Amino acid sequence: MTVDTAYTGELPGLTLLARGKVRDIYDVDDNSLLFVASDRLSAFDVVMKTGIPDKGKVLTQISMFWFDLLKDVPNHVITADVNEMPAQIQKYASQLAGRSMLVKKLKMLPVEAIVRGYITGSGWKEYQRKGTVCDLELPKGLENCSKLEKPLFTPSTKAEDGLHDENIHPDKSAQILGAELNQKVAETAIQIYETARAFAAERGIIIADTKFEFGLDNDGNLVLADEVLTPDSSRFWPADEYTPGKEQNSFDKQFIRNYLESINYDKTTPVTIPDNVITRSQQKYLEAFEIITGKKLST
Ligand code: ATP
Ligand code: MG
Repeated sequence: MTVDTAYTGELPGLTLLARGKVRDIYDVDDNSLLFVASDRLSAFDVVMKTGIPDKGKVLTQISMFWFDLLKDVPNHVITADVNEMPAQIQKYASQLAGRSMLVKKLKMLPVEAIVRGYITGSGWKEYQRKGTVCDLELPKGLENCSKLEKPLFTPSTKAEDGLHDENIHPDKSAQILGAELNQKVAETAIQIYETARAFAAERGIIIADTKFEFGLDNDGNLVLADEVLTPDSSRFWPADEYTPGKEQNSFDKQFIRNYLESINYDKTTPVTIPDNVITRSQQKYLEAFEIITGKKLST
């Protein structure tokens, strides 16, 4: 099986502003951007040769679901309906439907708002060395993937291309953003995480941690941007398998991880992922989508 995704990544006539590992961003006009989620698959920051069909649609439609659920928090979405987008975009409706959002162009904050409800990943590494996460003191005796008493705001700086983001103490993000804005970002991020986590928990998914990005609009309002609470920006764990003291299975990426482990993956070279691994991963992405939103993916 080759991955036959409708989105080619080539939209002549539109200006590509940036190509992330997964998303492409096109300039539309002074006030708006087109955000397209491709089906590209990245692992260990490497984009693999094989993508996952419809993954981009899952990411976009899960984000849209949360933006809607969290509509008390101002967000950057103008529309996700291609029919409502400018004519030069509608031309590519068959490639873009279901996987794209027209968004307000914002002044992005130079800090990523990470919220952790569980200690894992880089947080667990730091805790083992120093008993802290982002230099915040934590109780002794936590295990890998322990639930934290309260969700923590653990910001990071946005790294330049190719470098890894760096975790920073909230005092440092207060220096970068100003104390008042930092406080607002921290409170908003924690509040959104708590709402989403409670919602997902009722459906058997643990959202262990997540990353938000905020920007400011022309009036200086704080606006939730980027993708939200997707399997790419968050860790989703199946609740019924949760056991602290070890790595958890990832809801969506486990088959990929297992495969890469089985080939002793060097963590640098793009590789082809076998069809059966792709198919099972695709099913997991769809399952996450259906469990969380209670809907079928619009393809
Ligand atoms: P990767 O996710 O591959 O590590 P990345 O985060 O740089 O790389 P993407 O996530 O694909 O790339 O790109 C999203 C980019 O768009 C980010 O730099 C993000 O800060 C920015 N962004 C998100 N929403 C808006 C917005 N409304 N206005 C302006 N920029 C935005
Ligand atoms: Mg990103």
